[in-house]
Amino acid sequence: MRLTANEVFPKGNRRFKSSRLRVAEFRIVIVGAGPAGYFAAQALQSAELDGKTFAIDMIEKLPTPWGLVRSGVAPDHPKIKSVSKVFEKIATQEGFRLIGNVELGRDISLAELEEMYDAVIIATGSTVGRKLGIPGEELANSISAADFVPWYNAHPEYKNLEVDFSDQVAVVIGAGNVAIDVARILSLNPKELDPTDTAQYALDQLHNSAIRQVHLFGRRGPEHAAFTSPELRELPKLEFTDVFIDVAEITAAQQRIASSDETPKDVKANLEAMAAIALADEKGVDRKLSLHFLSTPLEIKGKNKVEEIIFGINEVKDGKVVPSGQTKSIKCGLVISAIGYRCLEIPGLIYESGKIKNTDGRIGVSNTYAVGWAKRGPSGVIGTNKSDSSDVIKLLISNLTTPRNGKDILEILSSRNIAFVSQKGWEQINSAEITAGEALGKPRVKITDLQEMLGFAG
Ligand code: NAP
Repeated sequence: MRLTANEVFPKGNRRFKSSRLRVAEFRIVIVGAGPAGYFAAQALQSAELDGKTFAIDMIEKLPTPWGLVRSGVAPDHPKIKSVSKVFEKIATQEGFRLIGNVELGRDISLAELEEMYDAVIIATGSTVGRKLGIPGEELANSISAADFVPWYNAHPEYKNLEVDFSDQVAVVIGAGNVAIDVARILSLNPKELDPTDTAQYALDQLHNSAIRQVHLFGRRGPEHAAFTSPELRELPKLEFTDVFIDVAEITAAQQRIASSDETPKDVKANLEAMAAIALADEKGVDRKLSLHFLSTPLEIKGKNKVEEIIFGINEVKDGKVVPSGQTKSIKCGLVISAIGYRCLEIPGLIYESGKIKNTDGRIGVSNTYAVGWAKRGPSGVIGTNKSDSSDVIKLLISNLTTPRNGKDILEILSSRNIAFVSQKGWEQINSAEITAGEALGKPRVKITDLQEMLGFAG
């Protein structure tokens, strides 16, 4: 299907028309329609109040925007997704164009963008799961959360992930927010996910899942866990799941931090939340989630797929986590590692420690910048990107000189027969999904087929 610029952004479209008639001093392209990209656009829009004007193009690989808000946030945490309202407000400001279904490196090169625009902002996040680097990691059913999370969130590129739920026991590795999301999704009763926007294929598999025991393992102590206390506090409220923590592990952690005056408030709050879990009455239900600490994964074993995982038991000595020399083994049929992410590399950029090499967001001395996880690595919550992107935009603006009046990307995409998706096209996809969800009492039914999405985009 070949769409011209006029078909996608019709001349009668007020936003398109006005954006092109206004005096747009600088043209900026943002690559990636996730939180960091939207907050960068917002910072540019706010800077316009200081007498500067920006025409912002946001290109996105998928026909759908919102990045991790759509494909990362757990489906049973719909409130976190409400930030999408802010994104939609940014998207409907004058001078902003969403150009979806366009992939950097496939449809347009970085060099072309750098030539066309006054500045390029890379906001492509970190999408690849970090590796454990242990024997057996490549066995079937040893899966990264970087693949599992977008799978249950209906990301078109992950819908075919093969997950075998036939064993009663699953292991999650990591003591961060992603690990706890994954452990909760695996251990709750899937009927709690029925009213959410979880992918239907994932719901079907979760309903048929044999998993009844989920074990989460952190390699350091409870005091080092990167959970947030609200997430911990919701665990005992799960109606159909008993959650266990060995109270001795929490008491030992509390004793370790007792001598320090510098223990952050959130660590104390986390330990209190974990103690409450440890002391909670057992419900006697068949679904169980257990949180364990001081356990480093050493090896995953199995003939054709995961059958067992071996952990080295650690201890804390003089404030340091060290191996005790002891090991333990858990028989399990599924291992999900949630141990962080790294960037998928874009040709033409230099990477170090899994993120784009940059100084305060600027990439070398070019007109290209990085924001979000692409810039600083996979840390912080969605809101962290707001101040981070804003700082990078201040730097970007300070380096702008004269507008270069480069070519319009839409003409180039049209000449390459690329069926790009406009904001209007996305709004049509959005509304089709919401309408489909209404009938089922869900916020939306996400479309997972790219051609179907493009069909709704018109
Ligand atoms: P994270 O917070 O960095 O946690 C990664 C965990 O993996 C840590 O416990 C880490 O242990 C462990 N780990 C790393 N390498 C390991 C290895 N080789 N073996 C065993 N364990 C290993 O990362 P994340 O959970 O992926 O979260 C990424 C970001 O997204 C975070 O900023 C998080 O807050 C955010 N997020 C937020 C929410 C929310 O707000 N609801 C939800 C999801 C994600 P060590 O500490 O010992 O290194």
